[in-house]
Amino acid sequence: MDKSETVDPTESASRVAPQRKFVMVIDLAKCKNARKCVEQCQKNHHLPPNQELMKVYLMQENEDETPYWMPKPCYHCDEPRCMEACQTGATYKSKDGIVLIDKELCIECKNCITSCPYSSRHFKRNQAQNEPLADPPLTGVQSTGAVMGISKCDFCESLVTQGILPYCVLACPSGTIYFGDQMANIVSNGKEEITFTDLISSRLGFRHLEHLGTNPNVYYLPPGTLG
Ligand code: SF4
Ligand code: SF4
Repeated sequence: MDKSETVDPTESASRVAPQRKFVMVIDLAKCKNARKCVEQCQKNHHLPPNQELMKVYLMQENEDETPYWMPKPCYHCDEPRCMEACQTGATYKSKDGIVLIDKELCIECKNCITSCPYSSRHFKRNQAQNEPLADPPLTGVQSTGAVMGISKCDFCESLVTQGILPYCVLACPSGTIYFGDQMANIVSNGKEEITFTDLISSRLGFRHLEHLGTNPNVYYLPPGTLG
């Protein structure tokens, strides 16, 4: 008998091995704070100028070290504290590993905001009262009415599930941000494709606050290690 015939078609989807696992790698040595990632994210997610799902922070380890820029999206953790804190099931993880919000289930209790160790969630009310947003937003990013509610980076789910890179990746003139499928072991910044494990090992990649045990799916390459 062919092995495929032995598979139980009623098997729970959660027990089936995922086909993809999206991962991002941010090269801190390349970021020049051009902010194109922020601008394109805002434009394509229909955000007002004062709302950023991708932030760029100026960092300096101590006064003897050279400052550097640190882009920070949601880390789409494998052990997401936001999801643990969500009592309604509004926060969930897709089969591709993306942490999303079901607006229909969200009661705006803000437990997810206070439980995220990376401050990756935001709550916003539209200042232009009762003005609906111009275009339908991406699923899980914000509501369509005057109250925008809980929002976060969604890894541009509507793009990446079609094999298209996120807006922030394509916008960066320095090629700072790589994105890809960890299971295929390939990431791209839109200019080059690189083997994910080679990139992480050769450039000493790390994850922010690794000791928290949240297992982020966003990696960083240290500043000052280019070339
Ligand atoms: S970074 Fe914060 S909001 Fe994003 S998945 Fe992790 S715990 Fe949740
Ligand atoms: S604000 Fe919404 S997504 Fe966040 S914990 Fe409450 S119900 Fe869940």
